[in-house]
Amino acid sequence: MHIPEEKISEVLNASDIVDVISDSVILKKAGANYFGLCPFHSEKTPSFSVNPGKQIFHCFGCSAGGNAFSYLMKYHGISFPEAVKMAARKYNIEIENEALSPSIKKEFEIKEGLFRINQTVMGYYHDFLKDSHKAEAARVYLKKRGVSEEIIQEFRLGYSPEGWDTIVNLFRKHKILNKNALQSGLVLERKQKDGFYDRFRNRIIFPIFDINMQVAGFGGRVMDEGMPKYLNSPETPVYFKGRMLYGLHAAKQFCRQEGFVYIVEGYFDFLSLYQHGIKNTVASLGTALTSDHVRILKGYAARMVLVFDSDTAGISAAKRSIKIFLQEGVDIRILVLPAGNDPDSYVVKHGRDAFIELASNARTVMQFLLKVSMDTHGSSVEGRIKVLEDMKQYLILIQDSALRSLYVKELAETLKIDEKAVLEKVREYYLDNPSSTLNNCKENENDLESDRREEQIISMMLNHPETIPLIKTKEVIKYFYSERLKHLATKILSVDPDNNTFITSVMTKMDNNRDQEILASYAIQDSFSEEDVHGKALSLINRIIRIRIKQENTLTNKIISAEKGCDSELIELLKKRQEEIRQLHHR
Ligand SMILES: [Zn+2]
Repeated sequence: MHIPEEKISEVLNASDIVDVISDSVILKKAGANYFGLCPFHSEKTPSFSVNPGKQIFHCFGCSAGGNAFSYLMKYHGISFPEAVKMAARKYNIEIENEALSPSIKKEFEIKEGLFRINQTVMGYYHDFLKDSHKAEAARVYLKKRGVSEEIIQEFRLGYSPEGWDTIVNLFRKHKILNKNALQSGLVLERKQKDGFYDRFRNRIIFPIFDINMQVAGFGGRVMDEGMPKYLNSPETPVYFKGRMLYGLHAAKQFCRQEGFVYIVEGYFDFLSLYQHGIKNTVASLGTALTSDHVRILKGYAARMVLVFDSDTAGISAAKRSIKIFLQEGVDIRILVLPAGNDPDSYVVKHGRDAFIELASNARTVMQFLLKVSMDTHGSSVEGRIKVLEDMKQYLILIQDSALRSLYVKELAETLKIDEKAVLEKVREYYLDNPSSTLNNCKENENDLESDRREEQIISMMLNHPETIPLIKTKEVIKYFYSERLKHLATKILSVDPDNNTFITSVMTKMDNNRDQEILASYAIQDSFSEEDVHGKALSLINRIIRIRIKQENTLTNKIISAEKGCDSELIELLKKRQEEIRQLHHR
């Protein structure tokens, strides 16, 4: 971390963790903490907590934790300096790139360069659409589709002209290096001879903004029956299609207001709904939805409505996405539009209220899957058995057992099959496909030999720094059994406890994420009352020391009796152990 220490503290002091996390998670206050749905694991009930007093977060479900910087790193998948810069930008603090280490500086410059290139190209395509006589057909096309001037302006829609070298020439004019031009994905290398050509030609252009309102990439759509109908930017250092949702930058506040979000497939579906005042909408950019998409959306809306066309492609796309939502434990409804409609055509034809009315009757996942399956297999006895076979693969994905049994009941009733028989089928499936359950609620790997008392000392140092001098004098840390906790404790002792951002300053001292998580978990819960905290610290310290000494004595006795029994292997083992403990004490 080559950003100067003072800068890091300045940004940390200016940041408020509740404010930072609220950008991507819906938080509600409960007692001293705020709670929300964890963006790092699938859950239905909030176990993700944020403590404004200590400026830390901790998830009781997956044990993710840390300070504002660690949150930004984990959420956006960025490095520490990037997280500091991101927070600095939010709080209007200037950090010069010169302050960074060479490798980080380079990484930054690449990303910033790409955003700049995208910004330039977006401006070019947008102006071209508005002003050029060569864009007349594009303007007519958009008008025919009912896209308003305001929408074209707000979403900076553009037009990429026909011809192979418009952007190639633009890059030349702006003296953009070939390397950077290629990396942007906006031009490609020619196969036969030297030089480059434009990726987007004769297409309506949709700039894709990230959550910070930066242009991350582009989508292009043909205006006729040409193929491919849609073309998107390739993955670049600033564009990850598995995490991007079209329109989220504009829709996020409306998603929070409404408490739910419509997920549509195409750009025009999004723009049309948005234009008709249904602004709590995002588009999936034609790619399959990922669990990252769902977790990002969870930060803005608790409920989601997947909107699909009633054609076969729409239905199978819905079935694919459903698995992801079930795994993530999201409250999801499926809205299948009447035959021959997509969201765009429907809202244009019938208006906003009709769409909302239709959506309010959207099916639950199980109702939807059941209908699709029954339409395929019919309601004969054989048909119903096949439906049951179909359904169990979905039931198994639901981790919430209460929810699962509700669905089992619903299924049994609809199929007129005994509930126990349904449960039996699900169990069979589970036994045959143990991996299908996706039990990603990882057991909290106990990678530290956790002595409760050592953990308590750490928690005490963090929550009651006034005990630190005592802990120092008694040198209790050297008696710690867990190497990891000993390491953490030593780091804590290296930070000035008078500092008013003590805990979060300790956090920035940690050199890995796991250590931060462990610290956050000890810091978030304070099991000691203010009352006689010194007395409690003292008795804790004494107990740790006493137990270690006793342990050593027991070991010596064991060696003596092993020597009597001539068990050389055991003697070796015990002596090694004794040596370890001695070193522990005399370091
Ligand atoms: Zn979690």
